[in-house]
Amino acid sequence: MQKTSKYKSKRVVAFPHMGNIYIPVSAMLKTMGAEVLLPPENNSETLTIGTRHSIETVCLPYKLNLGNYIQALESGANVLLMFQAPGSCRLGNYATMAEAKLKELGYEFEMVVFDMYKGKLKEVAKKFSYATGSTNILKTLRGIRIALAKINALDEVENKLLYLRPREYQKGSAENVYNYAKKEIHKADTIKELKAALKNINKKYDEVSHDSKKDILKVYLTGEFFVQLDPFTNMEIERELGKLGVEVERQIMFSHWSNNTLMPRFLQKEESHRDRSARMAKKYIKRAIGGECLESVGDVIYAADKNIAGVIHVGPFNCNPEIVTQCILPNVSKLEDIPVISFSMDEMTGKAGLVTRLEAFVDLINRRRRSKKTA
Ligand code: SF4
Repeated sequence: MQKTSKYKSKRVVAFPHMGNIYIPVSAMLKTMGAEVLLPPENNSETLTIGTRHSIETVCLPYKLNLGNYIQALESGANVLLMFQAPGSCRLGNYATMAEAKLKELGYEFEMVVFDMYKGKLKEVAKKFSYATGSTNILKTLRGIRIALAKINALDEVENKLLYLRPREYQKGSAENVYNYAKKEIHKADTIKELKAALKNINKKYDEVSHDSKKDILKVYLTGEFFVQLDPFTNMEIERELGKLGVEVERQIMFSHWSNNTLMPRFLQKEESHRDRSARMAKKYIKRAIGGECLESVGDVIYAADKNIAGVIHVGPFNCNPEIVTQCILPNVSKLEDIPVISFSMDEMTGKAGLVTRLEAFVDLINRRRRSKKTA
C-alpha cells in the first residue's frame, strides 16, 4: 500500500542524524525557508527499525540512516536529503539502496542526493536549493554562513567539554553546560544570536570548577567518520573515558570536514587531515581504500610523534576500510611504540564489554607511563 505524507501541498525535508550535524543542517534549511522535520535522535528503536529492513551485513551507519528515514516518513516528511562522498566503499550505494528499500515499503517521497563527487559548496547549494524549492541566492548564502558558523561553535563547545570532563571536581557539570550549549546554538537564528549564545555558554563553562594542573592521560580517538561523531553509535566512548579521568582528542571534528571537504583547496589554510595522514601513513599503506583508513593509520603515527599515551580506534562492524586498518594497526602500534585498541560497533555490541576493555586499556597506558617515568 502507498504511504503518502500528510503534508500534501508542501515540501517537508528530513535528513539522517550523525551526532550534532542536525544543528547546522537544519539551520541552513530553515534559513532557506524550508519546513524541516527532525526524526528522533539516534536511539535503539531507530537502530531496530533500520536493522529490520536492511541486509544483515550492511554497515551500521546505513541501518541507522534507514531507521531515521522511516521515522521521518512516518511523521510526514516527503523530501529526504542524503549525501554521497568520494571513496571506494559502500557509502556510494547508501542513497540508492535506501531509496529502493523505502519505495518497496510503500513510502512516497523524493530523495535528493548531494554528491561530493560532483562539486563542493556549489553542489551543496544546488541540491539544498532544489530540496527546499528556494531560488533565492542570498538566502542560500545566508544559510551556508549560519551553518558554517554553527559547525565552528559546536566544535568549540565540544572541545571545551573534552578538556573539562576529566578535570572537573563535580562530575557532570561540564556536560550540563554542553547540553545547554547545544540547545542554545540550535535555537540561534542569526549570527548575532549565535555570538550572544556563545558568550553566555563560555561564561557558564568558566564557572565549571576544575583542576587545570591535574596530571592527565590523553588519548586520540580515531577511526570511521560516523562512529567517531555519533555518540549513540560509539556508546558515548568519550564520556566513558572522561569518567576514567582520560582526556580525549577526537581526530575528526565537523569543522575539519567542512573546511577540508566543502571548501575549495585554494581556500584551505593548513595541511588537511587527509593530506597529513597520507603523508605519515605511506610506509604502511600507499593509497586510500575508502572510509578513513588513511586517517586512522596516520593518526596513530601522529599520536606517537606527539607523545600521546594511546590511541582508540573505532569503526562499524563489517566496515571494509576499517577492517583493513585493524589488520595494519598492530604493526603500526609495535613499530611506532604506542598502545592502540580497536572497537567494532554493531547492534549486538554491549556497553559493559566496551567499558571493561576501556578500563583495561587505561590501566595499561597508565602503568606504561609510570614505568617510563621511573626508567
Ligand atoms: S566507511 Fe565503512 S561504514 Fe562507512 S560506508 Fe564505508 S564501509 Fe560503510
